[in-house]
Amino acid sequence: MDYQKLANLLFPDVTETQDDLEKRFPPRDLPEGARVTRFAPSPTGFLHIGGVFGALTDIMIARASKGVAYLRIEDTDKKREIDDGVSAIIAGFDAFGLHFDEGVTGFGTEQGDYGPYTQSRRKEIYHVVAKSLVEKGMAYPCFCTAEELTKLREQQEADGALIRGYFGKYARCRDLTMEQIEANLAAGKSWVLRFRSDGSEDRRITFDDLIRGKIEMPENIIDEVLLKSDGIPTYHFAHVCDDHFMRTTHVVRAEEWLSSVPKHIALFKACGYRVPKYVHTAQVMKLDEQTGDKRKLSKRKDPEAAVSYFVETGFPREALIEYLLTLLNSNFEDWRRANPNADAMDFPFNVRKMSNSGCLFDLQKLNDVSKNVISHMKAETVYERVAAWAKQYDPEFHAIFTADPAFSTAILNIDRENPKPRKDIARWDEVPAYLDYFFHEPVLDPALLPARISRADAKAILTAYADSYDPSEDKDAWFARIKAMCPAFGCCPEVREYKKNPEGWKGHAGDVSTVIRLAATGRTNTPDLCTVIRLLGREKAVARFLAAASAL
Ligand code: GLU
Repeated sequence: MDYQKLANLLFPDVTETQDDLEKRFPPRDLPEGARVTRFAPSPTGFLHIGGVFGALTDIMIARASKGVAYLRIEDTDKKREIDDGVSAIIAGFDAFGLHFDEGVTGFGTEQGDYGPYTQSRRKEIYHVVAKSLVEKGMAYPCFCTAEELTKLREQQEADGALIRGYFGKYARCRDLTMEQIEANLAAGKSWVLRFRSDGSEDRRITFDDLIRGKIEMPENIIDEVLLKSDGIPTYHFAHVCDDHFMRTTHVVRAEEWLSSVPKHIALFKACGYRVPKYVHTAQVMKLDEQTGDKRKLSKRKDPEAAVSYFVETGFPREALIEYLLTLLNSNFEDWRRANPNADAMDFPFNVRKMSNSGCLFDLQKLNDVSKNVISHMKAETVYERVAAWAKQYDPEFHAIFTADPAFSTAILNIDRENPKPRKDIARWDEVPAYLDYFFHEPVLDPALLPARISRADAKAILTAYADSYDPSEDKDAWFARIKAMCPAFGCCPEVREYKKNPEGWKGHAGDVSTVIRLAATGRTNTPDLCTVIRLLGREKAVARFLAAASAL
């Protein structure tokens, strides 16, 4: 067979060679040991939390080695695509402060020297490589129709073939003569380009996955489709061409691709390329509430599968990243303890410390991480973040919250910036309810009064307190006054004393302040009450005490 002639027949317009591509996309000029990774989503417009997990891995690996992480859009499967599925994905990453060094930057925009970074714009590159494979006798056109392929499957079933697919004796087009090919082309028959595998059923290959270690699998024997009948590459072929010419060193991708590695290695070798390192990441799982079993996070059943969920509910980006890093690298938490104030992105990420079994995404844990992260933020930062969140998701709250920024910042600052800040807020959508009593008049629910303080007692406490409240008192003086009020209402000023003889008292100083807290806020648990009342202002606070007293 004259392969050169066949190549020209199949790709008459391709004039470039692999050498030209090698020159166009030379090896990257990076320091020794630098790793080049890529995140390669299909533009479905949906960013799964597993995607953030993968992208964060890419970015951390590149960062830790002073390498490059780039974003490539894999749009060869038109069925999965929506018009502008790219912007939603990029917006999702933006919301969590994740940025790639190179690649697609928006709908139709990109940066970097190894592009285009969108597969649908790389057809000529795939065709150069495809043509060179034909020239080497390593690829051939296949004219089998859908019906013929169905027949082939049926035949394999009838034969009880252990391996199914287009290979060996079943590969009808593998050995067509030039005359047959010419005739088929002349008749306008559509064709796909197939790989001519030289694999053998009895051979096995081994490769090293950086998470899973040494893996052994049967060699590929399938004559895989490289180009579909419209000239668009399959995932397998595009992966090989792109990761070679974009000079990827580490292919981080979901474990569902693990079984395709033998195919990919065969293709890399046939093309004459060096095989990249593989990192197949475990799936993100959750505990099913009903069954108690671990299962894959589902786009359909679990709102938290979508990155938009975290944006809408208002988890700060630092919290999500912090939490994902604890899932990604088992030693992250130790590092964090040793470096409490460091930027999480400076964590020396180690691929080999990644888990190879499905990792559990636990919203409760994320909540705890988030409370901790928020508790260490400055009030000004919290104010800005809440305002930005509310602007988009709760305009009514936004209006009252931003009417007096100094006031809103001050109330967010209560019990903050001390060695043990309160951990009340996990996400911004909790803030409107959390701060509600600062903006709306509370209602005292008598059922919340301490057990042995009657309504009449509470009324007397509030009336007396309204009379004597002095906003200039500091915290100690404030509490001293509450203690001083206690005996008049049958309460013990000291809790310790009270505990010695609880029967002798109606309550203690804490119960008196609970009554005041209920009147001021409607709640039994708030940040420092003295400051809350001071920030409400004497007029408003006293009005609340009196209103509560008269309602009792
Ligand atoms: N486009 C592929 C997917 O969305 C990416 C796999 C890969 O990273 O190679 O599954």
